[in-house]
Amino acid sequence: MSYKEIYIPFTDLMFNRRAITAISFDDSCWFCNSHPKDDDGYCRIHFHGIDTRVHRVVYMLLNGDIPEGMVVRHICDHPDCINPEHLILGTQADNAKDRKMHGNYLSGESVSTSKLKESEVIEILNNLSNTIQEIALQYHVSHSTIRDIKNGRSWVNISNRLIHNAQHKTKVNRTSNKSSVKNPNTKRMKKKRKES
Ligand SMILES: [Zn+2]
Repeated sequence: MSYKEIYIPFTDLMFNRRAITAISFDDSCWFCNSHPKDDDGYCRIHFHGIDTRVHRVVYMLLNGDIPEGMVVRHICDHPDCINPEHLILGTQADNAKDRKMHGNYLSGESVSTSKLKESEVIEILNNLSNTIQEIALQYHVSHSTIRDIKNGRSWVNISNRLIHNAQHKTKVNRTSNKSSVKNPNTKRMKKKRKES
């Protein structure tokens, strides 16, 4: 699987003698690979004498201090993701809600997929114009559930069937086009040749 390495070159971090790096497989999430994870899946960093989480540091370096009582949330449900575009401010209550959704996702495919009906998964797979966030909101499931469906990591049987059907359809179209275009033309060609 191909991936991109991301390096966050802040001078503040050089002081700590350890830069923050991450890898990204699809230009979406940046998974931190420079710092160890805690039990909740967040990467930890020693920053200005404080033991904290890497995603908080990334947020602060780009946006300034985190207001008191506020937390930095992930819109993508991946605690080790440090893509600044996936980090937003929220309250503790928001964070608890996020964790509950994430917990549901982690507890197994049967739980995460059982929230959706087969017909809904087909709708999601056919719906390419809306963003993952919009679809997750629409079906009341986590972003990772939608992403896994779109990436073919869950509901594989349905995505394979849709691909198979699509290929079958193009094959049928191609053959029907051929017969409808070819026959009258060849007849006309033959006729012309005879006339001349
Ligand atoms: Zn992310």
